Amino acid sequence: MEIYDVIVIGGGCAGASAGMYSARFNMSTLVFAEQPGGLITTTHLVENYPGIKKITGPDMGQVFMEHAMESGAKFEFSRVNTIEKVEHEGKPVFKLEAGGKEFFAWTVTLATGTKHKHLGVPGEEEYANKGVSYCALCDAAFFKDKTCAIVGGGDSAAIEANILSQHCGKVYVLVRKDFMRAEPVNQDRIEKDPKVEIKYMTEIESIEGDGEKVTHVKLKDGSDLELDGVFMAIGHDPQNELAKQIGAEVNERGDVIINREAETNVPGFYAAGDITDAKFKQAIIGAAEGVYASVMSYNYLQELHG
Ligand code: NDP
Repeated sequence: MEIYDVIVIGGGCAGASAGMYSARFNMSTLVFAEQPGGLITTTHLVENYPGIKKITGPDMGQVFMEHAMESGAKFEFSRVNTIEKVEHEGKPVFKLEAGGKEFFAWTVTLATGTKHKHLGVPGEEEYANKGVSYCALCDAAFFKDKTCAIVGGGDSAAIEANILSQHCGKVYVLVRKDFMRAEPVNQDRIEKDPKVEIKYMTEIESIEGDGEKVTHVKLKDGSDLELDGVFMAIGHDPQNELAKQIGAEVNERGDVIINREAETNVPGFYAAGDITDAKFKQAIIGAAEGVYASVMSYNYLQELHG
């Protein structure tokens, strides 16, 4: 049976970085990239990755994966469904199932990231892809000269309002508090944009439509806001199912708890990127955690095999 030195689960910045470093350490490395390039591919422009002044999210995801591949990491573009620890010749080994096949590795790095949060209001599921979207970069072009709202008060909301404004005639930013907490440079851009109107202390009660598409939203103050599209940018939930299966500890948000060396409480099982309990979710941090995971995997293998 083939046993990889390293299996990385996740093909975003953290996973690809772990894959690239692991392969360069001459460890046999397999990366599962169910979402090739990861969440960064749904970002318009990345302007804060040190050393790269400006790159689109899709290009960044692609470059990260290519770098890992060219370093010798193998890729599988499927979802890992289960993980467990078994024994092989008296040594612990991880057994994974993906696409109906079994895979084995001495070490695993979890870099599954997060998925978009849903608002949970009436009409949201009914009008998904009929005006409700979780990705401005993917869907903004369908709303040329239309009126759209972006829900959220973080950096994603500001960035996505900026993207929407390039296509839409009018963009509302619906913020539930009386302030936003976006990066100042992104906040400035939307405040100066005549097409963007930020509505503070504003929450959606329900999303309404004609059965085919969104027509308006009902707000909690009782008023209606006519709209063609509603984009959600209200944060993310960690994809931690595999961490839970293997017994890795998570915090109250569901983020996998790691130490500075990307180690979890499970020997040989590391985590990197947005899935971890690092406070600041950034590509550069995920990439760095991926490096730690690789180096620690290497050290672990030295001890395991002598
Ligand atoms: P955040 O968790 O930072 O912000 C979520 C926003 O949505 C908050 O303003 C929050 O409100 C609001 N919100 C949450 N739930 C609801 C709700 N039910 N109704 C209305 N509003 C709601 O998420 P982001 O996606 O903006 O950012 C996540 C992380 O990703 C951050 O660390 C950010 O810096 C990073 N990021 C990095 C980028 C990059 O590297 N280029 C790009 C974009 C994001 P409240 O303020 O009241 O809690």
